[in-house]
Amino acid sequence: MTDLASQSAALAADNIRAALDGLLERRTDQTRLTSMGAGSDDLDEGRAYLAATVDGGWHVPTWPSTHGGRDASVAENQLIGSVLREYVVPDLYPFAIGLGMVGPALLTHGTAEQQDRWLRPIASGAEIWCQMFSEPEAGSDLANVALSAAQDGEVWRLGGQKTWTSRAMWSEWAICLARTDPEQPKHKGLTMFVIAMDAPGVDVRPLRQMNNDAHFSEVFVDGTVVPDAWRVGDVGEGWRVAMTILSHERAGAGSRGGGDGAKRGARVPTWITDLAALGALDDKVRRDEAMSIYAADMASRWTAQRAADEARSGGSPGPAGSGAKLRTVSSYKRRAYLANRAAGAAGMLENGHGYIETVTAPSMSIRGGTDEIQRNILGERVLGLPGEPRLDRDVPWRESRKGLL
Ligand SMILES: Cc1cc2nc3c(=O)[nH]c(=O)nc-3n(C[C@H](O)[C@H](O)[C@H](O)COP(=O)(O)OP(=O)(O)OC[C@H]3O[C@@H](n4cnc5c(N)ncnc54)[C@H](O)[C@@H]3O)c2cc1C
Repeated sequence: MTDLASQSAALAADNIRAALDGLLERRTDQTRLTSMGAGSDDLDEGRAYLAATVDGGWHVPTWPSTHGGRDASVAENQLIGSVLREYVVPDLYPFAIGLGMVGPALLTHGTAEQQDRWLRPIASGAEIWCQMFSEPEAGSDLANVALSAAQDGEVWRLGGQKTWTSRAMWSEWAICLARTDPEQPKHKGLTMFVIAMDAPGVDVRPLRQMNNDAHFSEVFVDGTVVPDAWRVGDVGEGWRVAMTILSHERAGAGSRGGGDGAKRGARVPTWITDLAALGALDDKVRRDEAMSIYAADMASRWTAQRAADEARSGGSPGPAGSGAKLRTVSSYKRRAYLANRAAGAAGMLENGHGYIETVTAPSMSIRGGTDEIQRNILGERVLGLPGEPRLDRDVPWRESRKGLL
């Protein structure tokens, strides 16, 4: 950066601070935040933060100012992101599907009416969304989705089952991948819809996870009516919309907020000062592990930031999102296990240091697509390795479908 450029960036950062000082609290070394909602059911803090920042468009700066953003360029967005790290941005896990996946997908594939109706309440935290993709027989093989949608004049009637639907019990809305043409090959007969979670026929049944959270659910849909105006993208284009959503999920776009105990931008992250306070860093092997995690963590954050900025500038993170997800998961797990081991026997207790992160960590390798699937994507789409045999690609889904017939 030239002197002039760095001076004007500092000036711009000061202007952003002047606006945010009236809205948010500054982060301190004492600030500790939950990450990915683990161990927390709080909706209020995130909602208050989003309500406070929506008029200035501070949380989703690249969104249109008419929809809760501020029409920011990628450079402005980066600057706002780096200044926001100085403030308490709560764990936005309950709001993450709307902010990080549905919002960007509506900006790419939604109609003007859909953007008008749904974007601002996402940005303000007024409405929560969930992602109804996975089914008992459609996880890694997502294109095997069986939940059906049949057109009936101006409406569609949906029926079937989803599972592992995170945030369903909090949600006003769901983005739902459905089978509209079983005679087409599996990727082609899919269409994306929005479902109102309080509509007749929607039944949400929470499931308890091994970390004791009940944040995901089975969702049964029986004859639920969805207006054609709530279809996102063309009929038969559901896979394309799903890929946009998944690449944003993997890149972690929109995931500002919450924390792993790290005070971002600080010289020493708080997860390290916490380890030091436990006396864990007196041990050379643990100190070495902590520094190795720290180095990998920083590389992972910067790479994820680049992918997220790419996504916010209108592109899709694509396969870069898979690399970002693998690195973020690995970092999360190593930090959790080191913290928990350092606590010794006390780490086995529910309130033990690193306990909640340790029992949450395995799920990180599954949600948003498993580690194995991310490696397949990188192998095929980045390294150009031969693809997996896909014998069902051109066969009508009715003949190739897996699961109960
Ligand atoms: C905490 C959590 C939250 C979730 N939230 C949501 C949500 O909000 N919405 C939603 O739609 N889904 C959600 N999911 C579901 C998640 O996306 C799926 O669990 C995931 O895609 C794996 O699918 P599956 O569980 O059916 O496992 P399977 O697909 O049955 O996989 C089983 C094992 O086989 C491996 N495997 C499968 N196929 C291949 C292959 N081709 N090559 C190599 N290995 C393979 C997998 O890696 C895995 O280890 C969530 C899951 C978790 C754990």
